[in-house]
Amino acid sequence: MTVGGGGRGEREPVAVVTGGSSGIGRAVVADLAAHGYRVAVLDRDVPGDAGESGGTDRVRWVSGDVRDPDAHDEVLDVALSRFGGLDLFVGNAGVHDGGFGVRDLSGAELAEVARHVLDVDVVGYLLGARAAAGPLAGSGGSMVFTLSDASFVVRGNGAGVVYTAAKHAALGVVRHLAADLAPAVRVNAVAPGGVVTGLRTADGRDVFADADAIAATVREFNPLGALLSPEDIAPLYRFLASPMAAGMTGEVLRPDGGLAVR
Ligand code: NAD
Repeated sequence: MTVGGGGRGEREPVAVVTGGSSGIGRAVVADLAAHGYRVAVLDRDVPGDAGESGGTDRVRWVSGDVRDPDAHDEVLDVALSRFGGLDLFVGNAGVHDGGFGVRDLSGAELAEVARHVLDVDVVGYLLGARAAAGPLAGSGGSMVFTLSDASFVVRGNGAGVVYTAAKHAALGVVRHLAADLAPAVRVNAVAPGGVVTGLRTADGRDVFADADAIAATVREFNPLGALLSPEDIAPLYRFLASPMAAGMTGEVLRPDGGLAVR
């Protein structure tokens, strides 16, 4: 696949993906790279197989925190200077809250967790969009953000009030950006249900430590009894970035086993 025009000549499409070292983001990076994209990844953890030089001629990793505006400029610089442009920004890096209610923590603990989760899951998306918007307007590209079933449903999905608030807010980011950036840049989202990944809480605990029990709960929670993998979900990002979705902006694809009709 190539994209061209605008006096830039033909080149392979280029994506920036945040949180691409694990889980859903890692599958998105692999899917894009397997389908002709060159990908610059921003993640706080660079996987061991990235190699000492920080990647290959198709996928490059930048170590940084999505809460840091400079980290977004750095990964964008890799996309532009090394790969020659930007056609897709995937905002995906996220953390979970661990599922607590407002009365489960002290005020100081609640404030700390809420600031961390909202900073990563919402401010991180805003900073990525800010950095990518200009280059994407130039290329006629698009953004795709990872939302969650927690952008739509409450209770029963393991989310606490902070994660629900963050993912509802991220839906607002997607819808507002779609309106603001039209017609130059399309902005869409993927909102998975439960997917067993390396997802962590703000204090570093593994959300899916008890993977078998959580998998059973996920299946019981959705009408299709589905338990999707990151690889099942990853192609939806490529679809939303493709000409097949040229008429879509402000939309959310929901690979969650049918929670909308639960
Ligand atoms: P994951 O932990 O496997 O992947 C998240 C990645 O984000 C990791 O590589 C991590 O290092 C990175 N990251 C976290 N905080 C960061 C920071 N401050 N700066 C830079 N990188 C950071 O988890 P995942 O489940 O693949 O999560 C990806 C996205 O999917 C998140 O936005 C999450 O909220 C969302 N999501 C997950 C599920 C699920 O059930 N796993 C369901 C719906 C939505």
